[in-house]
Amino acid sequence: MAHANWIGGEFVASSSEETIAVVNPYTEEVIGHVASSSPADVDRAVEAALRAFSEWRWVPAVERGDYLHEVARKLREAEDALARQLTLEGGKPLVENSDEVGWTAASFDYYAEIGRHSRGRVIPSIESSQLSLVLKEPYGVVGCIVPWNYPLLLMAWKVAPALAAGNTVVLKPASVTPLSALMLARVFDHLPPGTVNILTGSGEMVGNALVTHPQVPVIAFTGSTGVGQQIAGLAAPHMKKLHLELGGKDAFIIAEDADPDVAVPGVAWAALLNNGQVCTSTERIYVHESLYTEFTALITEYVQGLVLGDPLDRATDLGPMARANYRAKVERQVADAVERGARVLTGGRRPPDQPTGYFYEPTVLVEVNRDMEIMCQETFGPVLPIARFVDFEEAIALANDSPYGLGANLYTHNASYVKRFYEEVRAGTLWINDPLTDNDAGPFGGFGMSGLGRELGEEGLDEFRETKHVHWDFAMEPKEWWYPYEEYNRLR
Ligand code: NAP
Ligand code: MG
Repeated sequence: MAHANWIGGEFVASSSEETIAVVNPYTEEVIGHVASSSPADVDRAVEAALRAFSEWRWVPAVERGDYLHEVARKLREAEDALARQLTLEGGKPLVENSDEVGWTAASFDYYAEIGRHSRGRVIPSIESSQLSLVLKEPYGVVGCIVPWNYPLLLMAWKVAPALAAGNTVVLKPASVTPLSALMLARVFDHLPPGTVNILTGSGEMVGNALVTHPQVPVIAFTGSTGVGQQIAGLAAPHMKKLHLELGGKDAFIIAEDADPDVAVPGVAWAALLNNGQVCTSTERIYVHESLYTEFTALITEYVQGLVLGDPLDRATDLGPMARANYRAKVERQVADAVERGARVLTGGRRPPDQPTGYFYEPTVLVEVNRDMEIMCQETFGPVLPIARFVDFEEAIALANDSPYGLGANLYTHNASYVKRFYEEVRAGTLWINDPLTDNDAGPFGGFGMSGLGRELGEEGLDEFRETKHVHWDFAMEPKEWWYPYEEYNRLR
């Protein structure tokens, strides 16, 4: 069926005639259309999710775990098809998308297990005749709104813990990557109908309708800080629980003892993976002055050796950026930097040998300063702006010179630098000598303008559980601190 959503366990035609075209960023051709769903479609999906919630919440956690392990198994089975579709619509190299499918499956396996560890805890009660329980309960229908850069992984970081906690889900994928999201119907079709529902459509229409829907008490969102702010405003009158993973401007500090043979490819990886379209991409590089000249020369040479090309080709390092407007933003920021005195050591242009595709050459910029857009606004593109520092005190101050606080990286063996770094840098994830690595058990999220809440780990499960305190006295006796009880007996 064309232009349908997946609601209540089946494909249902959208009530809207409008569609959204899906473009291949390598060929620049339209490769499909999906429904531009309406608020009526959102109502329908929320109703299905609510119906499913009345049963799913009571499914024993061990059984819910079995369902989630089966999701993981089906994801691995569909790896090739999913990875290919992700590359066709998002432009991320096939190798990386295969990895993404594997990581997505691993997240479902992780929450399948930790979802059955606890339902809360028992706390010491006030009297010996009492039991005090802290219960963790599902909220109900969770609205999950995800971006295009890691469409499956960031879906899993929300959907897996939400389901493990006993909630049901309405998922809205990004309009850049909706076709791979619809393929997930096959991955979820063993779940009771309505447990997961998938709706395509614009952020303005479907996203807003979810965010303001009175029967969706939780919104889990990954995307830009601007949209996160809009969501917070729209959700405020409903007092919704919000989970917001937003933008970043991660710093990378290269201390004087760093080995350039490791730091050069490591920093290039952290800045250029997925063309720098990672929320935790390195976007500001600070090198100790003693290494600066060598480091900038080596990294320039290194990035010139990376292979740009067809993202379906397994030899490709960098494919096209996801959309022309994302590239345009990078071009604007580089132009602004150059105008204000920055120097381009390599890149700074579209590759002349790629006839189609939203390519941008990996770009090394030096002589940058904090007032340039490239140093203070999120770039989300393949640019490495490099500045130098004199001592570690200054390096920490530079790393903290941002309203964002998603992640930060450091290369050093100096233990006192490490301690200062993880204690003083305001960011949700600190990587020392191993940039950008995720761990399902490690909570992930941002300080400041990078968001609210944490995904992954036990914290990521708790985001989808409401806390209840149960105070139970077995005795049913009068208490001495009440109004005089004798008075009551006398009156009777
Ligand atoms: P975006 O424009 O904010 O979109 C993200 C999602 O929100 C999409 O599904 C989008 O739908 C939807 N949306 C747009 N406007 C909306 C609205 N008014 N109400 C509700 N939903 C709305 O972000 P993007 O450009 O796709 O992704 C890049 C951004 O995501 C970057 O800023 C990046 O840092 C951030 N990101 C953060 C993390 C993290 O974990 N912190 C991870 C990855 C990415 P449409 O596609 O239909 O517009
Ligand atoms: Mg967008």
